[in-house]
Amino acid sequence: MKINENFLKLKENYLFAEVGRKTAAYRAAHPGKEVIRLSIGDVTLPLAPAVIAAMHKAVDDMAKKETFKGYGPDATCYGYDALLDSILSSYARKGVQLGKGEVFISDGAKSDCGNILDIFSAENTVLIPDPVYPAYFDVNVMAGRNIVFAAATEENGFLPMPDESVKADIIYICSPNNPTGAAYTKTQLKAWVDYAKEQNAVILYDAAYEYFVTDESLARSIYQVEGAKEVAIELCSYSKTAGFTGVRCGYTVVPEALVRGGVSLNRLWARRQSTKFNGTSYITQMGAAAVFTEEGERQIDENINYYRNNAKIITSCLDGLGVSYTGGKNSPYIWMTCPHGMTSWEFFDYLLENANVVGTPGSGFGNNGEGFFRLTAFGTEENTREACARMTALLKN
Ligand code: PLP
Repeated sequence: MKINENFLKLKENYLFAEVGRKTAAYRAAHPGKEVIRLSIGDVTLPLAPAVIAAMHKAVDDMAKKETFKGYGPDATCYGYDALLDSILSSYARKGVQLGKGEVFISDGAKSDCGNILDIFSAENTVLIPDPVYPAYFDVNVMAGRNIVFAAATEENGFLPMPDESVKADIIYICSPNNPTGAAYTKTQLKAWVDYAKEQNAVILYDAAYEYFVTDESLARSIYQVEGAKEVAIELCSYSKTAGFTGVRCGYTVVPEALVRGGVSLNRLWARRQSTKFNGTSYITQMGAAAVFTEEGERQIDENINYYRNNAKIITSCLDGLGVSYTGGKNSPYIWMTCPHGMTSWEFFDYLLENANVVGTPGSGFGNNGEGFFRLTAFGTEENTREACARMTALLKN
């Protein structure tokens, strides 16, 4: 027996553990101080009433012989029509036409950003942005793949563009981005689609934050870009769109047009899913199906507007302080430059000790994150205002 030694190459999940450890140590040493976390990547508002009502109804369905559901429908890899139809209609509103067989319901985008690698050879080279959502990196280390980086820097607005001299087979793109909050325009994404076509590569496009996009020029789906169906798989999630972080539901789109070496990637993924996955629960799917109804969308818009307002409170605070940042407008993340040339961890300590505010050090997301700091809009409005008042008092001189 041999273990997968690639696991030994993984770095300890240092970032969030260290943020938690330092915060807990500070709290223990200063019990009277109220520490505010602007580091949370989890949502805080409850599910929309339309979602709750649909889930209650689905529970009742499970209680009656006539409406009870076991395994989901085989024909669509266990996706129920009500949910698939609502996803297709949501894409249609973005100008994208998809077929039911192209949408695979999942238990969230995190699982599929790793699971999808099953259909690709371990010999492929993967291109990942730096800084990055850590899971993209770790799942490829586990699989022993060669990883190359696309540098996201202040100079390119944290939106790296294709470099013709770099050879890649699999390309991860996340827009709006975690951690930088930067989002690609459709024109910029077209350059990535053309590059992928030239390289015969496949783009794994993570649209988990697409619902935060308001600017028309920015993409909400990579399929809004011409030719993308031939090169891209899209991962999406109800987590940040509709507060499903604890419920677990997402979807992965593998277009019929995506063919490599004469083989349909849609067929490979369908085969993989029907072998290793038995579907997302009926109750969860019915709750998710309510998200893109007229009532559901109105309600989740209210929640997203609440987070957008928090983002505005933070960006106004940074504007007032003359601190540069990206994100916050089409994203719940604000990626700020650490003041006075501090490193990410120096600023973390400074802010914790002097303002009792916690953020996430940018260096934990990759080498290019050094000198930057991530704040999130997922807290309460009251805490966000208080944290900003404290930051202003601390940093105004
Ligand atoms: N993709 C990105 C870029 C994320 O930031 C997150 C969560 O923070 C996820 C995926 C995970 O989404 P899910 O809850 O659907 O697994």
